[in-house]
Amino acid sequence: MKDFIFITHHFGKEGVPQAEKFLQENDLTSVVNFENDGILAGYCSLRLPKDDIRLKIFIQEIEKNGKKVQARFDRVYTPKELNSFDYLVLIIRTARLENPGRNQKYDFSEACSECGAGVNLIPPLDLPLNSMGKKLVDCTAHNEWLVFRKELADKIINANLKDISFYPAKVGKNERDYLWGKIENILPKLHTTSEIIYNYTKCDTCMNSGNYDYYDRPNTHVYSLTTKSIMKDFNLTHEFFGDWKSSKLGGNRKIIISQATRQFLLKEKVKHLDYEPIEFT
Ligand SMILES: [Zn+2]
Repeated sequence: MKDFIFITHHFGKEGVPQAEKFLQENDLTSVVNFENDGILAGYCSLRLPKDDIRLKIFIQEIEKNGKKVQARFDRVYTPKELNSFDYLVLIIRTARLENPGRNQKYDFSEACSECGAGVNLIPPLDLPLNSMGKKLVDCTAHNEWLVFRKELADKIINANLKDISFYPAKVGKNERDYLWGKIENILPKLHTTSEIIYNYTKCDTCMNSGNYDYYDRPNTHVYSLTTKSIMKDFNLTHEFFGDWKSSKLGGNRKIIISQATRQFLLKEKVKHLDYEPIEFT
């Protein structure tokens, strides 16, 4: 396990010469992405181990100019470490698909009346745009409805991985090649020792929406040991994440998969996926 900090900063076009000098003097040139020309001139990003001294120097330089540091915490596990966990959070690292369009039909019968958490799709999932490209799996931006290429969905069924069902999906004009994957098993609440931002935008009716991830320090997901026995290959958190006030469609539940599911996804070479461990107490 290794912790990194990812920082982006815009020195501005006029700040390019000074920034170049600063980067050179502090041995940062080889580790930054720095644009010195064009419309992004002055834009800089870098990712360094948390304890790298150059990180501190870079942050000081930004703060010296009276600017705020835009930093993201990034914890990376080795494949061997990830192999040792029975369950993991599945994170889809894509730009996300467009949300369903105006034609999408919803079932609000199990949803919270205030925030919309728990809303279900009435198939087909209807996405106005097809930005799947060659991806085997992706999800929509807000609710993270999962879209699978049909071949992958068939393999999941054949592999006997449990608690995901597949329904028709219309992706752009394509009604043939994709399926909506609906995960059925919703877990009990996260254990209170989990570290996420709880109820940042609280829904007073269900108290279950508006949770967020920490951006500048690690998030941890902990369940009580008794929950382990009811976990399936595909699961969803009880908690809803993200903003619900503008959409009234709740937010997304995080996806929690078994190690068997992870090994399957690795074997099928499904790209753009990350994993974080589930801990038990
Ligand atoms: Zn609610």
